[in-house]
This record gives sequence, structure tokens and C-alpha cells, in this order.
Amino acid sequence: MMATAIREIAHQIVGGPAGTATRFGNVFDPNTGAIQARVALGGQADLDRAIAAAQKVQPAWAATNPQRRARVMFKFKELIEQNMQALAELLASEHGKVVDDAKGDIQRGLEVVEVCCGLPHMLKGDYTEGAGPGIDVYSMRQPLGIGAGITPFNFPAMIPMWMFAPAIATGNAFILKPSERDPSVPNRLCELFLEAGAPEGLLQVVHGDKEMVDAILDHPAIAAVSFVGSSDIAHYVYSRGVAAGKRVQAMGGAKNHGIVMPDADMDQAVNDLIGAAYGSAGERCMALPVAVPVGEETADRLREKLVAEIGKLRVGISTDKDAQYGPVVSAQHKAKIEQWIQTGVDEGAELVVDGRGFSLQGYEKGFFVGPSLFDHVTPEMSAYKEEIFGPVLQIVRAKNFEEALELPTKHQYGNGVAIFTRNGHAAREFAKRVQVGMVGINVPIPVPVSYHSFGGWKRSAFGDTNQYGMEGIRFWTKVKTVTQRWPDGGAGDSAFIIPTMG
Ligand code: NAD
Repeated sequence: MMATAIREIAHQIVGGPAGTATRFGNVFDPNTGAIQARVALGGQADLDRAIAAAQKVQPAWAATNPQRRARVMFKFKELIEQNMQALAELLASEHGKVVDDAKGDIQRGLEVVEVCCGLPHMLKGDYTEGAGPGIDVYSMRQPLGIGAGITPFNFPAMIPMWMFAPAIATGNAFILKPSERDPSVPNRLCELFLEAGAPEGLLQVVHGDKEMVDAILDHPAIAAVSFVGSSDIAHYVYSRGVAAGKRVQAMGGAKNHGIVMPDADMDQAVNDLIGAAYGSAGERCMALPVAVPVGEETADRLREKLVAEIGKLRVGISTDKDAQYGPVVSAQHKAKIEQWIQTGVDEGAELVVDGRGFSLQGYEKGFFVGPSLFDHVTPEMSAYKEEIFGPVLQIVRAKNFEEALELPTKHQYGNGVAIFTRNGHAAREFAKRVQVGMVGINVPIPVPVSYHSFGGWKRSAFGDTNQYGMEGIRFWTKVKTVTQRWPDGGAGDSAFIIPTMG
């Protein structure tokens, strides 16, 4: 039997597929476990080509008036909407999430594009008339030049759009280095952006691993890098990028807690926790893998209801319309999750539901992990301290509100947190005191809407600017402030002390 050639996924440099790769990464179908394509793993030479194209196009793009730049965003939004189904199916086929969830991934990125359609308004500067005699002061935001984005596997549409929409709308060229595990949707977004009227070279995609990331971090022509991924790599990217003189924002991992107060609407809390812990197989940085019931009685009620709901979960292939979640992204990741479950057992937590050894008929080689539930997890356990990033929910019992508040506050990660309660005062106190960047009050996954901004605290984010919203506009621009005087004639005396307006 003749072997069929495997599909190759190339860089998108200038206006289309490019590059002469010598190294490749496998792209799997997580449902079957089979290799479905191979992606080029590039390096310096590919990046140099992309930079040259970006340098050629960026000055004219920056000089294009903001309303015309926004028109490309409007058209891009329309094209994404037209291609939603196909994009979602492509995304699901490489990531493993179910198709409806993949639509949510695209939708949340699209919403950032929508906000960027209003870019002219967001770029208006500040102006002070008469700051001194005959003196006016104004400040404006100008693009940085060329920006780069390095993105994780778990949101291959949303996170690239968080970055490139504000970067490009504000007048920069952008080079995206997406995850090598699901690279096809980023390529497709790049093609659609060209179709929307963007000039060639404005948005480009280079594929690769550490070699390409290092080339980006060291390249003198790249002014700013936005990274999202795991914390150790985020810290590495942040340090190396800053050492090279770049502006860097680097979002990392998470371990989000859901506090359940005794007065919570228990059915609602259970529904929310189940969706937020097991949706997308737990591969979300805003998942809720830790439930913190307050008081033994609350814990027992919660546990009983969670067990009942877990029993109803349907794990299936990505295109199964009735499945709540699909396979995880790789065999390696499946093994890592199962290892963490074993660690939890070894550390003395009670494994109430064991999702290991799950097998789907007809898809025995797929990367499936059944839902797992732990009870009596304690803060000393490494399985609690570390991110598992799989369909594993841990119950950590707290005696009272203060103890519950302390758990997310002291945790090394501080991305998201939620509290379920009917008590407004408790919720308000919690939101004020907890040391976490994004808080949900009876909302399980508090990803801020696209006109606010996204960012965690502690080891969940390095750098000081959030993603998207006005924070995104600030990250991708630099401020220039002009102090002007139009004298009515006659030269004055020289001034040797610092000018003041008084
Ligand atoms: P990852 O850190 O393995 O990869 C992220 C990016 O870094 C990829 O583009 C990858 O190619 C690159 N990379 C991998 N190893 C590298 C190395 N040694 N040197 C340089 N670059 C390297 O993350 P992932 O597994 O793709 O994604 C899951 C992680 O991302 C989880 O920790 C999750 O919490 C986190 N995440 C965080 C957020 C957030 O906003 N805080 C959002 C989504 C995902």
C-alpha cells in the first residue's frame, strides 16, 4: 500500500505559505490519536524574512488614518462570522475541544476585534489648552513598530486575536508564533485578515518551538512581545525579552478557586463548578479546578451533588453534539494529568471519582481522560499547589470565610477566583481582599468582556499591563507629549532653569 503524503502546515510570511523547514512538529487528531499533519518548526532565517516584510509595510500602515485601519477590522469581523463553522471545526480537530466550545473560543477573540473597530475613539489623545502663557500641551499614542505574540495551545483563536487586533489597529505590524500543537486556525486567521484588506506583511505567522521563541526575544527589530502560556516559560520570556530591551507582558498558569458559602444557591453553584472544572477538559486558564466549601455541612452537600452530576457527564469526540467535553490535547498531556491524579492519591487526598483509564469505544487511541474528583485536599499537597490543567476537580474544605479567603490569596497563582453566595457583604469583602486579578461573584469563569481587560496576579502574569481593552491599547503604543508655543513675535531671553508654567 502506498503511503499518503502528510499535510504540511507552513509559516504565513508576506502573503502566503513560506519557508524551507528542516524540522517539523507533529499535529495530532486528539480524538483518534493519529498524526494528521506536520508543522514547520522555523528559526532565525524565517523570522528575518517576516521582519523584512513587516518593516516594509508598517510605516505606511501607521500613517493610514485610524478610521481606515478600523475598516479592515470591520471587514475581518464579517469574514470571521461567515467562516465561524469551518473555523470551529478546524480548531476542534486539532485541539480536541467540542465544536460549540471552539465557537466560544473564536467568539471571545472576535469580541476584541469588535472593540478595535472603535479604535479611532480609543486613540484620541489628551489636550490642555493654555498650560502656560500661550502654551498648549497635547499627548498622543504612537505605535511601537513591530510587535510579536507567542500563544498557548488552549485558545488558538481567542488569544492570538487578544494580541494582534489591538496591536495592528494601533498601527503596528504583528508577527504571531502560535502553539505548534494546533497551528491551523492561526494560519487561517492570517489569510482572512489579508482578505479583509490588510496589506501583505502586516500580520504574519511563524511556527516553531523554543528556537523560534528565542529568535523573537533576541531580535532587535521587535519592540514588544506578548506571551500567554505556562508560568515558568512566561517568566523566562519576560526576563529574556526585558533584558533585550523590549516591552513584555507574559501571562502564566493558574489554579482558580470557587468558594461555596453555606448560603449559596447550591444547585447553581454545582452547575457552574461542573461546567468550569470539566469544560474543555479543564484546559482553560480560567477553569475552576478547586472547590472550597465553607463548613463541613456545605462540603457534604456539595460533594453529594457534584458526584451525581459527574455521573451524568458525557465525554465524547469533538464533533459529538451531546458531549460536554472531548479529549485533551496530546498523549503526553494525558499522561501528565493521570500522573497528577496518582500524586494526589499518594499525598493522601481522597479520590472520590477516578477518571483514569477512560476509553471511548471506537476511539481507544484518543487522548481521553474521564472526570476526576478529589475530596480532603489540603494546601500542603503538591497536587493542590501546582496546575494540573485537566478534568480534575479538588475539594479543599475550609472552616470559615477567613480560611476560604486565605486559600486563593496565598496560592502562588492569582488568575481568577469565584465566590458563590447570597450574602452581598461577604461577596464585597471577598472581592476587596482576595489577592487575585479576576473575581467572579456567582459567576464561575469571570473572563472580563473585551472592553475591560484580562490579567492575573502573582505567578499568573509578569509585566504590568493586561491584555485587550484600554490596557491593550496602552501596551501596543507609546506616549508622545508635545508642549507647544506659538509666540507672537520677538525673541525672549534664554532660560537656564527648568521651565515651569507658573
Ligand atoms: P506552554 O507554556 O507550553 O506554551 C506556550 C508557548 O510557549 C507556545 O507557543 C510554545 O511553543 C512556547 N514554548 C514552549 N516551551 C518553550 C520553551 N522551553 N521556551 C520558549 N518557548 C516555549 O503552554 P501551553 O501548554 O501551550 O498552554 C497551557 C498553559 O497556558 C497553562 O499553564 C495555562 O494556564 C496557560 N494559559 C494562561 C492564560 C492566561 O491568560 N493567564 C491563558 C491561556 C493559557
